[in-house]
Amino acid sequence: MITKIMKAKGQLPEDEEVMKEAKRIIDSGGLVAIPTETVYGLAGNALDPTSSKKIYAAKGRPSDNPLIVHIADTDDLSVIAQNIPDTAYKLAEKFWPGPLTMILSKTEAVPKETTGGLDTVAVRMPSDRIASEFIKICGPFIAAPSANASGRPSCTTAKHVVEDLNGKIELVIDGGEVGIGLESTIVDLTGRIPCLLRPGFISREDLERITGPIDVDPAVYNKNKPDTAPKAPGMKYRHYAPEGELTVVDGPHESVIIYINEKCGEASVSGKRCAVLATSENLKAYSADMIFDMGSRENINAVSHNLFSCLRKCDENGADIIFSEAFEPEGLGEALMNRLLKASGNRVVKL
Ligand code: AMP
Ligand code: MG
Repeated sequence: MITKIMKAKGQLPEDEEVMKEAKRIIDSGGLVAIPTETVYGLAGNALDPTSSKKIYAAKGRPSDNPLIVHIADTDDLSVIAQNIPDTAYKLAEKFWPGPLTMILSKTEAVPKETTGGLDTVAVRMPSDRIASEFIKICGPFIAAPSANASGRPSCTTAKHVVEDLNGKIELVIDGGEVGIGLESTIVDLTGRIPCLLRPGFISREDLERITGPIDVDPAVYNKNKPDTAPKAPGMKYRHYAPEGELTVVDGPHESVIIYINEKCGEASVSGKRCAVLATSENLKAYSADMIFDMGSRENINAVSHNLFSCLRKCDENGADIIFSEAFEPEGLGEALMNRLLKASGNRVVKL
């Protein structure tokens, strides 16, 4: 299959040709990668089991890891979800369109192929203009997991999507770099108390302002007991991972720098290529084969935005060993640290 790449602006009528082609593909059960405000998504018709199966195949994603269904109008929620609690509508009013995914009880309309066999469905309404246009024209129910090959860092540019899925999907809509760069916040609303399954741009504190206190699934910090599965099936897999061995180093800045420089020195003696993911403030303090700038520690949004592309640069440059600085797990920092922990397979050194 030849993967076509078409640029879009997020406004009609300029995007008319792109959207026409996208609709033709989605209607015939094919797949289209689209930008969203979080990361690029791999879109198919959420109500068509064959299309969902194609998504799993293209990504190499395990079939028990459910897909998020994207909508463009809150009125469409009742087609795919039932027993919807008031909290869901309150959260939708505050955060939709935006980077929040809610887990609700599913209706018969949603095939189990889309929900990885679960009786619940994950729903989100993206705010990105291209995504929204796309869902209105090609939807109204679009399954769209992150558009990376399973296990790899999510895609924040169309180029990343092509790296992972070229020849496996019909079309990539190139809308430039995404805004946020980390996947949506996921909150489960099927229990008595809302439960955070994946932290994202909308923080736990943001949610609690609307819902009151919420639970956090222990899998968010890899603290689930060996015999209990994470509530978001995807959280049990090693995720977002570069090919090199990533270690997150946490502690006072000076000690972190000394530790990383020492380890990089040892690695280079044994012929290994070492990369450091550093904040701008500390860039000059490191000595390694490659040093990637994640942005200023003062600007956690920028660091989050840059994380996945820095991890991909490590692969491009053949890093065998990677060290990253750590961040306070508060606000967006909670999401950033969650992704770093998953990407490192929970390899953390505390100094
Ligand atoms: P991605 O599509 O790559 O952003 O990943 C979606 C995440 O949402 C995965 O971790 C899934 O396991 C999780 N997810 C999707 N649907 C459900 C659901 N019905 N219940 C719990 N988690 C879900
Ligand atoms: Mg993903």
